[in-house]
Amino acid sequence: MRVGVLALQGAVREHRRALEKVGVESRVVKTVDDLKSLDGLVLPGGESSTMALLAEGPLLDALRRLSSSGLPMFGTCAGMILLADVVEGRLGSIIGGIDITVARNASGRQVDSFETTLSIDGVGSDVPAVFIRAPYITRLGLGVRVLARHDGVAVMARQGRILVASFHPELTEDLRVHRAFVGMIRELRGEGEPG
Ligand code: GLN
Repeated sequence: MRVGVLALQGAVREHRRALEKVGVESRVVKTVDDLKSLDGLVLPGGESSTMALLAEGPLLDALRRLSSSGLPMFGTCAGMILLADVVEGRLGSIIGGIDITVARNASGRQVDSFETTLSIDGVGSDVPAVFIRAPYITRLGLGVRVLARHDGVAVMARQGRILVASFHPELTEDLRVHRAFVGMIRELRGEGEPG
C-alpha cells in the first residue's frame, strides 16, 4: 500500500513518519504526477488559504477529480478545510468531498491552541489530540458520521472514503488515528481490518 502526503506546506514530515511507523509506504505529493497509483492521500494541516493558492491549477483539478472518483483521503486541520464541501465565508469548496460546513480558526475564539484527549469511535477513549487554530464542523450532512466531539462540537467525521479531523494526530506519538485511516483504506479495498 502506498499513501501520498500532500506536501504544499505544513506538517508533512510528521505524517510520513506516522505512516512509516504503522508500516505503510508514503510518498510526498507536489505535482499531478505524484498522485499516480496511490491507495490513499493525507492532506496535512498548515494554512488552508495558502495551500489553496499553491495548488491552484492542474494539481487542484486533479485533487478534485480524485476526491470525487473515490480515492480515500484523510484531511487534518487545514486538510479538513480543503475537503469540506462548504467553508464559512468562502464561495465554493477548495477540493471538497465531504458534506460538511467548517468554520476556520474556530478554537481561536477561546484559546489559540490546546492539547486534550478525545474519545474517538472505533479508535479509543483516550486519544491525545493537538488543536492548533483548529476548524470546527458547524454543519453535518446526512451521510456524515461523527467519530469524535470536543465540548459537544464535532471534530472528527467520516463520509464514505473521506476522513477528516480538526486536530493534528501526527503531532503526538499515538499512532491509532493513522492506523484507523490505513484500516479504512483496507476495509474499502475489501481486505478487512488489519490484524
Ligand atoms: N487555521 C488554519 C487554516 O485556516 C488551520 C490550522 C492548522 O492546520 N493547524 O487553514
